[in-house]
Amino acid sequence: MGVSIKQVHSVFVGEVAGVDLARPLAREDVAAITEGMNRYAVLVFRDQNITDQQQIAFTRHFGELEVKEKPGHIRKSGESRLGANISDLSNLTKDGKVISADDRVWFFKLGDRLWHSDSSYAVVPAKYSALSARIIPSWGANTEFADMRAAYDALDARTKAEVEGLICEHSLLYSRSAVGFADFTPEEIDNFRPVRQRLVRTHPETGRKSLFLSAHAGAIVGWTIPEARAFLRDLTEHATQREFVYSHPWRQYDLVMWDNRATMHRARRFDRNEVRDVRRTTLAGDAPTVEQAAA
Ligand code: MN
Repeated sequence: MGVSIKQVHSVFVGEVAGVDLARPLAREDVAAITEGMNRYAVLVFRDQNITDQQQIAFTRHFGELEVKEKPGHIRKSGESRLGANISDLSNLTKDGKVISADDRVWFFKLGDRLWHSDSSYAVVPAKYSALSARIIPSWGANTEFADMRAAYDALDARTKAEVEGLICEHSLLYSRSAVGFADFTPEEIDNFRPVRQRLVRTHPETGRKSLFLSAHAGAIVGWTIPEARAFLRDLTEHATQREFVYSHPWRQYDLVMWDNRATMHRARRFDRNEVRDVRRTTLAGDAPTVEQAAA
């Protein structure tokens, strides 16, 4: 039978049938999924009850796993509930208890409620992210996606010309500050020094342009901070208007894979006393979007 993909939103997002992610993929299935990612930017796989190792093996069909040189957030190695190569995006502690409301780890997670692209604060930002839902809460917790190619295409000519050469500065600390949490350690400040990213990026496989926005973007090179923030907010509002957004209502054992080079996403609220166990594998991008400034 093989892979088939049905578009489930008017501008992007496909739902994939005919594949079992627990098993190694045939070469033609990898090709069909890659083509689907290039076309739809977000793919939904239903009823995939997989282990962490199976999720890692599935993801690696599409590239190299992202290895963070610096701790990606303030949960240090040894404090993680999961093994290597998979990120714990749950609301659980290492011991499987629900994180308390005033835990710094929870504050950092709340930053994911803002529209962002994964690892845009890294010199080489992420390619695909794959999120697997193992336990879902009884309400809420949707993940929303926005098509940044459609958002770019819909800009007026004047704005397209204005954004073309702009370079933004991204830091995890910008997005965390934006939810009102700025109590960073000197180590965090050092780890998350801003990196530069193009505001308009061209997809290496499709050649399509997109807006590379993210809550991690907090400055535009050569602009004052207030003017940059106001403009980035305007662009984000444009890019996340309803017609460019898909809201994913999770079912247990869904896996959703998205291309961070063409989309933004954000987490939605749920009852934080209920367990939400979701796990992410992430693929490394292949190059910086722009040369970094000399240190
Ligand atoms: Mn994310």
